[in-house]
Amino acid sequence: MAVYFDNNATTPLDPAVADKMCGFLKEHYGNPSSIYPIGRAVKEIITAARENVAAALGAQRGEIFFTSSGTESDNWAIQGVLNTTPEKREIIISTIEHPAILSQAKFLEKKGVKVSYVPVDSSGVVDLDFLRAAVTPQTALISIMHANNEIGTIQPIDKIVSIAREHGVQVHCDAVQSFGKLDLDVMKLGVDLLTVSGHKIYGPKGIGALYIRKGVDVCPFIHGGHQERGLRAGTENTIGIVGFGEAARILLERGRKDRERIEKLTDSLKDGIKRVIPKVIFNGHPEKRVKNTLNVAFPGLESEAILLALATKGISISTGSACSSESEEVSPVLLAIGLRPEIARSCIRISLGRFNTEEDVRVFLRELPDIIIKLRQISAFDPDV
Ligand code: PLP
Repeated sequence: MAVYFDNNATTPLDPAVADKMCGFLKEHYGNPSSIYPIGRAVKEIITAARENVAAALGAQRGEIFFTSSGTESDNWAIQGVLNTTPEKREIIISTIEHPAILSQAKFLEKKGVKVSYVPVDSSGVVDLDFLRAAVTPQTALISIMHANNEIGTIQPIDKIVSIAREHGVQVHCDAVQSFGKLDLDVMKLGVDLLTVSGHKIYGPKGIGALYIRKGVDVCPFIHGGHQERGLRAGTENTIGIVGFGEAARILLERGRKDRERIEKLTDSLKDGIKRVIPKVIFNGHPEKRVKNTLNVAFPGLESEAILLALATKGISISTGSACSSESEEVSPVLLAIGLRPEIARSCIRISLGRFNTEEDVRVFLRELPDIIIKLRQISAFDPDV
């Protein structure tokens, strides 16, 4: 039996989303920019999908712009703001952002942009005093993620927005990992820009969106035709948009119920791990975190070995961010929360989702102890020392 516990890397496509996409593919081929009925029909379908994504975020339809991914939305948000404010060459981000922000920051530093990296405490929450002190008259944007992809910690976005407002600075929030896992409301969050992605909410891959609050000035990131109201050119990924819209609609319909169930499953998994394996450490904030995510350290072991052993039993988990899971590099997020490299290298991420069951939890808890005992024997780790 296959157990998929890597829902932060990507979620399975919801069968209802797949049905909607297949139906659309069979019936529609028009270019939404064409003014005859075959094109207009597709434009209307895109509008409906945009409305669904907007509704799931508490936004207006005109504030949602479709992109190719969360990564593109993150790049557009930062560079789109920087390009409207050439006199302001500074941005502030946290040390635990996704590579879509961190690697971009490194690239922008080479272009002369000053980047301030706000540190986090041992549970992964940003240091608000550091953030406040980092703001200068040259700050164009603060970009802080909502929930972290590896440890699940949720940032105090409302407080970050308050600090930004004191200084007239705009705020972007990467909400790829909180969309679907928390009730998101852009009005309550108060952010100017917000990133989401289709494949983390049981929709297709290769489709994302950027929320741009009405009145916020952002330069286009991709230049060309007039699609997405002239801000993001390129003939729309119509099938992706249809799937994303349906996934957002389903989220509105059953998201809260799913979350309650997932939280219970995750809690019982956590209790079970504590019960069957001595000397494990759970990373991330104990309360302020998305409740589907467990990041667990097995001191003395290598996470890669645990991952491979679980894979042979049909269980899929991850050692961290999907984008860096193929590299040998220690997770910057785990180092940023103060873990020693050898402990960081022993951490696995388990992330549950809509399609997980109690049986999945049982299978995991049945297989894990043997794997850990054997690996501890090989590594000569003594849990009692
Ligand atoms: N931001 C965060 C926090 C993520 O977890 C991810 C994907 O894992 C992304 C951005 C990138 O999204 P996408 O895979 O749609 O490019």
